[in-house]
Amino acid sequence: MTAVVGRFAPSPSGALHIGSLVAALSSFLQARAQGGRWLLRMDDLDTPRVEPGAAARILDALRFFQLEWDDEVLYQDGRRPAYRLAIERLKHAGLAFDCGCTRREARSGRVGIEGPIYPGTCRAGLPAGRHARSVRFRVGGQLVRVADAVQGIYEQRLDRDIGDFVIRRADGIVAYQLATVLDDAYQGVTEVVRGADLLSSTPRQIALQHALGVDTPRYAHVPVVVDPAGEKLGKSTGAIPLRPEKPGAQLTRCLVWLGQRPPETLWDASARRVLNWGVDNWSLDRVPKTLETKA
Ligand code: GLU
Repeated sequence: MTAVVGRFAPSPSGALHIGSLVAALSSFLQARAQGGRWLLRMDDLDTPRVEPGAAARILDALRFFQLEWDDEVLYQDGRRPAYRLAIERLKHAGLAFDCGCTRREARSGRVGIEGPIYPGTCRAGLPAGRHARSVRFRVGGQLVRVADAVQGIYEQRLDRDIGDFVIRRADGIVAYQLATVLDDAYQGVTEVVRGADLLSSTPRQIALQHALGVDTPRYAHVPVVVDPAGEKLGKSTGAIPLRPEKPGAQLTRCLVWLGQRPPETLWDASARRVLNWGVDNWSLDRVPKTLETKA
């Protein structure tokens, strides 16, 4: 049996908030409960969105919650040569193509699951007089199926639902979908546990894994915690701050959101004790099979 490797991949666009603590905790417990390793990656590619100092603050917060990771933190910033090589390989194999369309032109098509479907203008080669702005992955018409360990079967037909998607943006930044796939493979990740807001990205990531000839990890998408108004508890929507004076209680609250049944005594326990209980009692089967859960 392959050794289990989990990971947490925060974007340093702000401090760790209680919503991202749920993703950190669930991926940690899923790995540790199986005696596996838990790795950390900073998704710091999208430089315009990176907040100076946020990466260090995220690491401090994880240490504060005793969420100890294995190995060195992987910074995507140092992975650019690998991304560049993969894009060249995909283009060479005819699986990706240069696109000269402006944002507006690219968005003139029929609407799919995540916005307009690319109309295919540059699919067969750049029209005369056009120069390459972005690079797109050429999607096929087959059904891509995710057997999600929490949400069950989730399927998309990428040509109908998503369209040829960008893997290198016009500003030169490698898109999240490709970087994630390459880094999960590079880090040997076998279990991806993350927020259910990323479930609809997963078929794109699986298609890229097939194109690049790398393994598909097991996926588990845990519900995103929303406030009573239905807003995601996150950095962009006014996070409920982490209350550092009570790390054990915060972790216990996350366990409850994740459908676990921590004993009352854990509310006053140290972070270390809560995590130990979590590792011993973690059950993915108890995680609510919904995309969202109310705080
Ligand atoms: N960096 C992404 C985020 O913070 C998560 C990426 C992933 O888990 O695949 O939303």
